[in-house]
Formats: sequence, C-alpha cells, structure tokens
Amino acid sequence: MRFYSLYFPNCCNIYFRLPRLQNTLYLTFDDCSNVSLTSELLDLLNDYNISATFFCIGEILAKNLFLIDKILKNHTLGNHTFSHYNFLKTDITTYITDIFRFQSLYKANLFRPPYGVITPSFAKRLKKYDLKVVLWSLMTYDFDVYMNADRILKLVYNRSKNGTIIVFHCNDKVKKLLTLIEKTIVFFTDKNFVFDSIKI
Ligand SMILES: [Zn+2]
Repeated sequence: MRFYSLYFPNCCNIYFRLPRLQNTLYLTFDDCSNVSLTSELLDLLNDYNISATFFCIGEILAKNLFLIDKILKNHTLGNHTFSHYNFLKTDITTYITDIFRFQSLYKANLFRPPYGVITPSFAKRLKKYDLKVVLWSLMTYDFDVYMNADRILKLVYNRSKNGTIIVFHCNDKVKKLLTLIEKTIVFFTDKNFVFDSIKI
C-alpha cells in the first residue's frame, strides 16, 4: 500500500489520512471476526468515551447482529465486503455483489478492501455507489507473529501524527489487543491528542 500512499495521496476516492487542525488520530479495526474481542473492545472504547471506525466482515455481522447496534451507538461502521474476498483473486462481478451483500445488511459509506488491495480505477467506480475507500497511514502489523506488544506500541507511538489513520485487527491472530488499545489511548490522551471516528 505504500505505493498508493506515495503516488495517490487521498486521490481517486481513496483516503490514507485525514486533515485536522487539532491533534486527532483515527483508530480503525478490521474484520470483527473475533466477536467477543470486538464486543470487549467496544466496551473499552466506550469507557474512555472514544469513537473509532470498524470495518467488519458482513458474514460476521449477519450472524451477530447485536454488533451492528453496539458499533453504531458511538462509532462508524464501514464495509469490508461480506465474505472477505481478495480483489486480485475474485472476478469483478462477484466482488461487487459481495460488497452489496454487505450494504443490504448495513448501508455504509466507507469501504476498506480486504488485504488493502484495490486499484484506483475500481475505487473511482465505488464513488458512484457513494462508497469512499479508506486505507490507512499506519499499519500496526498486529496480526504478525513476529510483532510483540512492545514493538507494536513503539510503532504506534513513533509514527502517529495529526490525521493518522491507524489499523488494528479484531481477529484471532491478534494477541493483547485490549492492552494495546488502552495503552495507545492513555499515551496519546496524555499528549493532548483526541481520537475520532472517520466521517467523510
Ligand atoms: Zn480484513
């Protein structure tokens, strides 16, 4: 994704970061496939009165409808396809149908492609469907077995700045997500940053 971020900064209906005058960070969470973890995370964010953005897999939401209500109380819910298809390995009709299968569950206006794979031309096409593509400015690699909590936090502390869109995952690969998030919140709140959900 570094390629897109270098050559297409916030163009083509693709957003990598958001401009803000105030020090603002955007926490985003992908997948929601670990449902109990997602639910606990929502409780944690609510305890700190922080709004975030969730890009959940539609299939997970369809089986756990309570998550939609719980997310929408205080956060933004984005489309992450219904079946978590890889854009490069799926024919275009199937891919679009899958996006709309999610939309029939909840009409989102943000879309994050699984694995971050998308082309500028497809992103432009999604504009016609009122879907803005949100990628990220900071990938935490929280799913990587070689990234322990300290390394992830170091990355987040050092690389986050005004308008940064940070990606974490609510899936079974991620260990200690709640600790990572709580430490991130405390660290940046102490530095007068605020956290917000993405509304574009
Ligand atoms: Zn994903």
